[in-house]
Amino acid sequence: MTASALVRMMDKAMNIGSSRILVTGGAGFLGSHLCDRLIAAGHEVLCLDNFYTGSKRNISHLLAHPRFELIRHDVTFPLYIEADAIYNLACPASPIHYQNDPVQTLKTSVHGAINMLGLAKRLRIPIFQASTSEVYGDPSVHPQKEDYWGNVNPLGIRSCYDEGKRAAETLFFDYHRQHGLNIKVARIFNTYGPRMHPNDGRVVSNFIVQALKGEDITIYGDGSQTRSFCYADDLVEGFIRLMATDDDVTGPVNLGNPGEFTILQLAEKVIELTGTGSTLVRKPLPADDPKQRCPDISLARAKLGWEPTIQLEDGLKRTIIYFDDLLKNG
Ligand code: NAD
Ligand code: UDP
Repeated sequence: MTASALVRMMDKAMNIGSSRILVTGGAGFLGSHLCDRLIAAGHEVLCLDNFYTGSKRNISHLLAHPRFELIRHDVTFPLYIEADAIYNLACPASPIHYQNDPVQTLKTSVHGAINMLGLAKRLRIPIFQASTSEVYGDPSVHPQKEDYWGNVNPLGIRSCYDEGKRAAETLFFDYHRQHGLNIKVARIFNTYGPRMHPNDGRVVSNFIVQALKGEDITIYGDGSQTRSFCYADDLVEGFIRLMATDDDVTGPVNLGNPGEFTILQLAEKVIELTGTGSTLVRKPLPADDPKQRCPDISLARAKLGWEPTIQLEDGLKRTIIYFDDLLKNG
């Protein structure tokens, strides 16, 4: 990226304007942080959610804001509104939640993408897609770069999510090629932080909640599988920068923290930071659980001038404070 393109993109990202921005899945973990960020930047936010996994608690502080509007709606149904840009985040993200109603998960990714792309096409506005590192499946290339096609089981219990997100990417690129739509596709790697659902079964929330309650910490398999954990604020910064790029930047762009940890290392870190007396217990490894995952973020560095700034230990401390308060005060 040239210096002038970087300056132009940063100017756009920092721009205090009054665009009306639709955030689907806006009451979820990441969506609510994005809504905060967009409101702080001076935008009008239309937060759309069907509250499948999201919660009013995540956005309660925004409900009375004059530039914030909540729309209860399911993205699998068409939507007719006016907006200047769309961030499409609606989709359950944790394995427990997306496997609870796999057909609805697939519909949310595919029908949701079709409906939001149709809206973007009618309005001729840019649209961002929250895709995922799951499109790489159980990867045979490490770390994962955007040109890797992935190793996904199309028939397994994770497929409703993985294949749904892959089909959504296909739709985004077909709308781009066929209709000239301005698309921005981000492949998000494991992200954590305040407002994660305490019972969503994801590893960071599980370990912290278990540690704070003094319960056993559940290691699936032998704990040697790896993940790379990005703090929510870092990720949202990546979203904003990607949306601010010139029209020819479509992605897919990996957004994640390249620091790679085994699940056992994560558990030990949580034990150390909470000072818990919890002990580790082994549970069976779920089917199709990827063995290692780590983003190559060269493209994000080059195109967005972006990289994570919050180290795992700092992010965990902030997340522990959130869950501690949640468990004590509800
Ligand atoms: P989340 O479950 O907290 O948020 C998803 C939101 O979408 C919830 O508020 C939910 O109620 C809403 N939703 C679900 N189905 C809907 C539907 N049919 N219509 C309208 N709203 C619907 O999850 P999250 O972690 O905030 O993830 C947000 C997005 O980022 C998802 O698309 C997810 O696939 C993607 N992502 C997240 C991660 C991560 O580590 N958090 C990693 C990769 C990709
Ligand atoms: N995991 C674990 N204990 C838990 C929850 C998850 O060992 O209580 C493991 C899980 O098997 C996976 C990793 O942690 O290998 C990350 O799981 P998560 O559900 O957070 O995300 P994903 O598998 O989608 O990356």
